[in-house]
Amino acid sequence: MHTPVLSVRDATVEYPGGVKALAGVCLEMREGELLAIVGPSGSGKSTLLNIMGALDLPTSGTVVIAGQDVTTLPDRQLSALRGRWLGFVFQQFHLSEGLTATENVATGLLYAGVPRKRRRPLALAALERVGLAHRAGHRPHQLSGGERQRVAIARALVHEPTLVLADEPTGALDTANGHAVLQLLTQLNEEGTTIALITHDRDIAAHLPRRVEIQDGRIIADTAADRDADRDADSDRIGAIGVAP
Ligand code: ADP
Repeated sequence: MHTPVLSVRDATVEYPGGVKALAGVCLEMREGELLAIVGPSGSGKSTLLNIMGALDLPTSGTVVIAGQDVTTLPDRQLSALRGRWLGFVFQQFHLSEGLTATENVATGLLYAGVPRKRRRPLALAALERVGLAHRAGHRPHQLSGGERQRVAIARALVHEPTLVLADEPTGALDTANGHAVLQLLTQLNEEGTTIALITHDRDIAAHLPRRVEIQDGRIIADTAADRDADRDADSDRIGAIGVAP
């Protein structure tokens, strides 16, 4: 049984000056999904990902993460919820230059209530999961772009979040490294991690199990809706010929 890990309901986001970045978006994610958000530049992809991650709140509508309506939470609880349930991956990695790979990954545990002495072994285990155990003591400038993004992915995963959100994770990488990062995200998803990522690369999106397409702040296509409609049509057909679904 798939449980919803995230529900965005009728969300609008209006920026000062009247820009409507989202205009009534509804989106539900189930546990175990790998979802690509696609659309032209300026269509609202980052705005949507930011409200899915409770980094911003919608102007109207609700966002429910792990059963909590984040639009009603005070700031402190919002940070706690992000630290516990969510993991973030950014296009530009956002690693701390003065820290080793292990220390960078361990920062992902700072707000997850993990005692200090447990952080290092967990960080090393996360680096191993992304295939970088042999780079544990390296600092970001000693790593390739693809390796840096893998460190950032290990940091996003180390506290075993319910949902990982990635904003153009392959955007700063060459094609080969981009594909390797995508392969890693796919593998992590197959191991059970729920992931939503933004990409402007249609080839990448075409290979992912679910695609949500945004234009002018609205969802104009969602392959999960097609899939659900097919399933409903199948069960209607089965019902019509008198076979129990
Ligand atoms: P995408 O990620 O698809 O490129 P964004 O979500 O970044 O699109 O932006 C959606 C729209 O909102 C765009 O028209 C953009 O110019 C506008 N926008 C984004 N952030 C801000 C902001 N902080 N202030 C005003 N307008 C913004």
